[in-house]
Amino acid sequence: MIIAANLKTNFTRKETNKYLEELESFVSSKNITQEVLVFPAMSSLDDNDTSIVTGAQNAYATKEGAFTGEIGLVHLEEFCIKTILIGHSERRHILGETQAELVTKFNYYKDLGFKIVFCVGEPLEKREAGKNEMMEYISSQYKGIDTEYENLIIAYEPVWAIGTGLTPTLQDIEEIHTELKVKSSAPLLYGGSVKVTNAKEVLALKNVDGILVGSAALYTEHFCSMIEYAQELEGK
Ligand code: PEP
Repeated sequence: MIIAANLKTNFTRKETNKYLEELESFVSSKNITQEVLVFPAMSSLDDNDTSIVTGAQNAYATKEGAFTGEIGLVHLEEFCIKTILIGHSERRHILGETQAELVTKFNYYKDLGFKIVFCVGEPLEKREAGKNEMMEYISSQYKGIDTEYENLIIAYEPVWAIGTGLTPTLQDIEEIHTELKVKSSAPLLYGGSVKVTNAKEVLALKNVDGILVGSAALYTEHFCSMIEYAQELEGK
């Protein structure tokens, strides 16, 4: 399974390096064979010697150039980063990234062979509009994306569940994941208020191939417990 931490705008470089060292020590002491990914803040990317794979939370579809406030391929290459998160709801809804921009970014990093964690998920009004409208909305977020790209991971993250402590029911998660699996055979993660208290149940669901964790991942012990749950459920 894939257990990913989105550290968002948290942890300095020093704190991130300490976090990664702690994770590595846990992963090696427990012989963890699950895929662990960590997305640190941009300025916390570093040459770290740990075996934990780090990825970028965002980068512009460019090698370098005049794109104030953005980073490009050269900045990722400096730290041998080959993994990127694209389409997170905070980028779609707070930073205003459009589907067209996300597709451009997706294609750029796909052509470079990056592992791409591509996020989809509905805001509350779409969920409340009923199942058909909700699924249509989520489908629109797949438009233009090569759903069979070999290095693609999809994360289903209902916007209303991110950072709110609210989650869909386990049955809802399983049902939506089963429908989304028809659109792409890529590994499908669930994200949105996964905590140490519900991670095991979520990971145990059919068609859930892992989790993308925000706030709860900031607690190393909690994130390590989630990794261990995934290990216990290996071959579920
Ligand atoms: C996220 O930001 O991808 C996320 C899932 O956040 P949280 O776990 O805090 O809901």
